[in-house]
Amino acid sequence: MNATTTAPHADAPEPVLSTLNKDGTRRWLQPRPSPGRFWKRRRALAYGLILLFVALPHVFVGGKPAILLDLARREFTFFGTTLLATDTLFLMLFLVSLFVAVFLLTALLGRVWCGWGCPQTVYMEFVFRPLERWLDGPRGVRSTAGRTVVKYALFLLIAVGLAHVFLSYFVGVDALARWVRRSPFEHPASFLVMLGTTALVFADFAWFREQTCLVACPYGRFQSVLLDRRSLIVGYDRARGEPRGKPIKPGGGVAALDTALVSRGDCVDCSACVATCPTGIDIREGLQMECIHCTQCMDACDAIMTRLDRTPGLIRYTSQDELQGKPRRFLRVRTVIYPALLVAAVTALVLVALNRKPMDVTVLRDRGAPFTVLSTGQVSNALRIKLVNRTAGQRQYTAVLTNTDGQPLEGVELVTPDLPATLVAGQSTTLHAFVLMPRAALEGGVRPVRVRVQDDAGNQVEAATKLLGPTGAGGGSLP
Ligand code: SF4
Ligand code: SF4
Repeated sequence: MNATTTAPHADAPEPVLSTLNKDGTRRWLQPRPSPGRFWKRRRALAYGLILLFVALPHVFVGGKPAILLDLARREFTFFGTTLLATDTLFLMLFLVSLFVAVFLLTALLGRVWCGWGCPQTVYMEFVFRPLERWLDGPRGVRSTAGRTVVKYALFLLIAVGLAHVFLSYFVGVDALARWVRRSPFEHPASFLVMLGTTALVFADFAWFREQTCLVACPYGRFQSVLLDRRSLIVGYDRARGEPRGKPIKPGGGVAALDTALVSRGDCVDCSACVATCPTGIDIREGLQMECIHCTQCMDACDAIMTRLDRTPGLIRYTSQDELQGKPRRFLRVRTVIYPALLVAAVTALVLVALNRKPMDVTVLRDRGAPFTVLSTGQVSNALRIKLVNRTAGQRQYTAVLTNTDGQPLEGVELVTPDLPATLVAGQSTTLHAFVLMPRAALEGGVRPVRVRVQDDAGNQVEAATKLLGPTGAGGGSLP
């Protein structure tokens, strides 16, 4: 592009994005900190969440990490309960409960998650930006090259640390510690995952920053659907603040003061709320998709109001209806439907969890011929027993064959060369088994039976199957 070429956004009638200048170049934001009461609470929560994130992979429940998302083995462990990819009903109910909870939380408290709990906000506003302010020095003063290098080196170091903690949720701290001590060539795949995660974290917090909230995160875009006019928002009280104007200086004269009192609102147009906004917007323009409800403008404006001896709360937690003078109403369609749905989903989830069997047993016929008549005259059936240990510990399994009423089956032998089998928590296996029986055990070539599998903790589960044999002469019945 030559020097006279006009950038595509140069003539845009209004700002396209708060992080873009009119000529399309990046507008780097340097929000001014506003250490008010909400900021102090957010900071305490942020450091608590960071501590939790780092500590949780080191917490073990029942010998397993409190949270382990083992994608390779498709096992997901949460506080002693291991879910498998085949736990579809449980996982579906869990996801439904999660989505409904997000809907309910947003309907009631707006984007409280974005401002208080989202890792993007927590790390950006309470780790990376404070470090940057400390290393760059005062606003408006150009930082030295040395300071900039130190800053990015520190950012990279934190990114490496965060990537390691993040990966430990997927592989566990023990595997991670082993990999860290060994050469990357011994575990190239996990090393590449680590490199990629580090690069993403570094690029996000060092370069992309608030644009993650503005253009990448879908949650903000759903805001208009999830919020209603009575949801909690961070809002500017236009009726009280407008018309805005600079405060009258002492000595301005009684007439000027009178005019100011009659004609001006409480907003003194100091722009403190804009200067502190981490997404670079002006809250006075109303509810915007870019507002992550971080409350920084509330703290900034409260400080100004207090200094001017005016009542704080010109920018406050409120609702769109309240700002228009309508009464606060908690009860509405979505605050009734969402809790009802949430209670139903969580109840179903608990019931499914309570009724989860300690093991899954599936009996299948082996591939090939349905039965074989041996030279001894006995009939043989080849079976496969699929077994999943759903407990949180190691178990040893045995199996017996029973009648459909659960009584022992005389004269029919279950041969299980793979049993007893030992499975660790969440492990699954397929065992091979044979049933040997006299023809008399079959009636019309068929015998319904059950395979009862039991573990060394006394749990047992039965699975039904049918034994097959020749339909010709010789069939009879056994007890
Ligand atoms: S407008 Fe206020 S609450 Fe919204 S993002 Fe900016 S500072 Fe945070
Ligand atoms: S901080 Fe308060 S007084 Fe200052 S411009 Fe914002 S709304 Fe107006």
